[in-house]
Amino acid sequence: MNNPKKALVLGAGGFIGSHLVKRLKDEGYWVRGADIKKPEYSQTRADEFILGDLCDKIHCHKVLDVPFDEVYQLAADMGGAGYIFTGNHDANVMHNSAGINLNIAGIAQKVGVGKIFYSSSACIYPEYNQLDPENPKCSEESAYPAAPDSEYGWEKLFSERLYLAFHRNYGLNVRIARFHNIFGPNGTWRGGREKAPAAICRKVAETKDGGEIEIWGDGKQTRSFLYIDECLEGVRRLMESDFTGPVNIGSEEMVTINQLAEMTMKIAGKKLSIKHIVGPLGVRGRNSDNKLFAEKMGWSPNQRLEVGLTKTYEWISDRIKK
Ligand code: NAD
Repeated sequence: MNNPKKALVLGAGGFIGSHLVKRLKDEGYWVRGADIKKPEYSQTRADEFILGDLCDKIHCHKVLDVPFDEVYQLAADMGGAGYIFTGNHDANVMHNSAGINLNIAGIAQKVGVGKIFYSSSACIYPEYNQLDPENPKCSEESAYPAAPDSEYGWEKLFSERLYLAFHRNYGLNVRIARFHNIFGPNGTWRGGREKAPAAICRKVAETKDGGEIEIWGDGKQTRSFLYIDECLEGVRRLMESDFTGPVNIGSEEMVTINQLAEMTMKIAGKKLSIKHIVGPLGVRGRNSDNKLFAEKMGWSPNQRLEVGLTKTYEWISDRIKK
């Protein structure tokens, strides 16, 4: 292609960002990646990769120095329940992620980018709508009155509002998605920031048939999990659309954490017992509501959880064998 579109991916060293870079390259984009670290489990395919701290405004000016056609803002101080629900990282989570978004929203507007995507989270939804594990409510308009159960969720809500304010006051061309538990190969699978699917795959892969794995809580809490490829399909469709959002990008296949563990054992061909232990949990129930996305985009994710979980289990168990 003679004059490819130029994209900037912030958080390109992370799980979703590294996959997004690959997807954009496959679509013919010229891509600059930026992160404080390179991807851990793959070589970046970015044409250019700038290492540095996006909390530093001077550094952000270097990263976002030209009017990119598209900017994808995925950089955040984040992790799974063991990182964001313990309370031990609240100050860093709020300060670092809000700092990045304040820098980027302001510079994107001044430089004049074509479009900017912001990755918000299902963690913005109020706890009072997610007490019944069978009937959680996560439709977009139910975000208010706001009552997220974590500082991570409050920062995401603040930053959604920040980008929307730049959209209203300065015409910044924004797209906002609320991701619901994205998983897949090349994601964090150990070390404390991993999320439930990766943690369970690791525990099952490490345990001999007939053994025991530990699960936080009674395992009856519900969630849905979206495979990375479908997440990227949703992001690209949103970016190509005229819809600002915020809109959910998630799966509607809700399972309990016990069911997720049973499904992983089936994939692994192992029978293990589950020991329920005390641990950080998050809300009691959560599921994506895809009505708005389907209405605006004419598509919604439909791959069965087992398909993506099989690929993720194989990737993690291969790493353990090495
Ligand atoms: P990730 O942690 O793998 O990626 C985030 C990246 O941001 C990391 O590579 C990290 O190094 C980078 N980063 C953090 N602070 C930085 C800084 N100061 N300077 C430069 N880089 C910095 O997470 P992910 O799963 O790929 O998530 C991407 C985005 O999607 C995040 O904004 C996250 O909050 C959001 N999100 C993810 C999920 C999910 O299930 N994975 C769900 C909801 C929302």
